[in-house]
Amino acid sequence: MTTTDTIPHWLTKRAHLTPNRVAIVFEGDEITFQQLKEKSLEKAYLLASLGVREGSHVAVLSQNSLEFTYILHGLTYLGAIAVPLNTRLTKQEISYQINDAECLHFIYEDSFKEFAERVKQDCLIVRSASFAQLNELEPLKHGTKEELKLQDTSTIIYTSGTTGFPKGVVLTYGNHWWSAIGSALNLGIGERDKWSASLPLFHVGGLAILVRSLVYGMTVHLHRKFDAEEVHHEIMHKGVTMVSVVSVMLDKLLTLQGEDRYPDSFRCMLLGGGPAPRPLLQRAKERHVPVFQTYGMTETASQIVTLSAEDTLRKLGSAGKPLFQAQIKIVSDEREAAPEEVGEIHVKGPSVTSGYFKQWQANNDKFQDGWLATGDLGYLDEDGYLYVLDRRSDLIISGGENVYPAEIESTLNAHPAVRESGVIGVPHEEWGQVPVAFIVVDQVITEEELLEFSIERLAKYKVPHAIHTIQSLPRNASNKLVRRELVHLWEERK
Ligand code: ATP
Ligand code: MG
Repeated sequence: MTTTDTIPHWLTKRAHLTPNRVAIVFEGDEITFQQLKEKSLEKAYLLASLGVREGSHVAVLSQNSLEFTYILHGLTYLGAIAVPLNTRLTKQEISYQINDAECLHFIYEDSFKEFAERVKQDCLIVRSASFAQLNELEPLKHGTKEELKLQDTSTIIYTSGTTGFPKGVVLTYGNHWWSAIGSALNLGIGERDKWSASLPLFHVGGLAILVRSLVYGMTVHLHRKFDAEEVHHEIMHKGVTMVSVVSVMLDKLLTLQGEDRYPDSFRCMLLGGGPAPRPLLQRAKERHVPVFQTYGMTETASQIVTLSAEDTLRKLGSAGKPLFQAQIKIVSDEREAAPEEVGEIHVKGPSVTSGYFKQWQANNDKFQDGWLATGDLGYLDEDGYLYVLDRRSDLIISGGENVYPAEIESTLNAHPAVRESGVIGVPHEEWGQVPVAFIVVDQVITEEELLEFSIERLAKYKVPHAIHTIQSLPRNASNKLVRRELVHLWEERK
């Protein structure tokens, strides 16, 4: 280890540089960086009193709140490792993650008290406390960190579990630090920047905003959960310049925007989390909303590839180019693919995790020479812009042709009667596999009508062999479509 691997504790440093600047705005309260530091240190002493020490794995279950941020920062002061949990998970899923991450401590928002009691019955938890119970403890003036070592683990965050069991992604201070630096080198830092955070802090996309706030000295407008009207108001009247969204959030904001035009100071709608429907991007462009599409994952500590607003129309549908410190390559048949050739997306860089917690097999299979095989399929165009197609595990091979379920889904979704759709490959005697679609409708529509619509827009081998109407699509706690559950549904219907 060299001394260059060490930085001053980022919150202490920030409170020293700009103590009176507002760090967080939340439900009418404003907290300066100095107050944030003090509150977080108070929490560190309370957590120490609960037995949390350097290296402890601490599960935290909370919606976005000031208390949650103090606890997250408080844990860094003790050198403990935060394991933030998705509040939408079931009791079994939460217990699994707590046990898998070897958490002996569990902190939760008071509204989850009853749920937490049941979770604890299945876990190896030694000490636990609701936020209120934690605050009642006698603080223990335990030594706190003045420095952060970039190679030390900061958090273990579970993937969404879209393609299989969620895996605990080990992220170091260095991963988060480089993610914040890469984002700044790409988007720039404006003195008046204010970032609106409605993404949950238990996801890396939300947590990354807190880190950026410390590193840049930037105010965060934090929300318990997404409320389109509040965010719209902040953009129009509160000087918010940056907002992180996923596509459903952007859709709601555009609908609400009406005749309003966002002020010129509003400079970035950072769109990530999944594929962005083209009609949505087009609508945003017509409304002069500067959308920056991004590609990233828990493993990359949030965005790793970003498309700037000026390229949005020229490269519509692309996720952009890798951030300054990052590299990507497309691998097909164990060699680097040519431009426009589809293969698996591999990523490398200092924001990329060095592995999953205790997942020896996955760590062995997915990492090589610093490159992570993402499991996503895509291609680079001649100019080096990335286009993400779909998950490798969901690829359908029909009569030797590659069929991407996402392409069929976005075609079906373009029909006004279709609210949403999910496509899977099913075995077929002649073609090996064929696509089958499941749809949720807003208006009654016959299978024939929709097939006709598809035939006009898709190559023959991509047209679904059957279209089933269902009540709702199976989604996980991150609201992502879980296609493997559609496979079960199809098997039941056979
Ligand atoms: P699991 O790894 O457990 O299956 P997950 O991959 O959904 O779950 P996350 O880390 O939350 O877990 O999501 C990252 C994934 O989201 C990426 O690997 C990719 O498949 C998808 N994604 C992110 N950005 C984009 C994008 N711009 N276009 C298409 N897909 C994207
Ligand atoms: Mg994943």
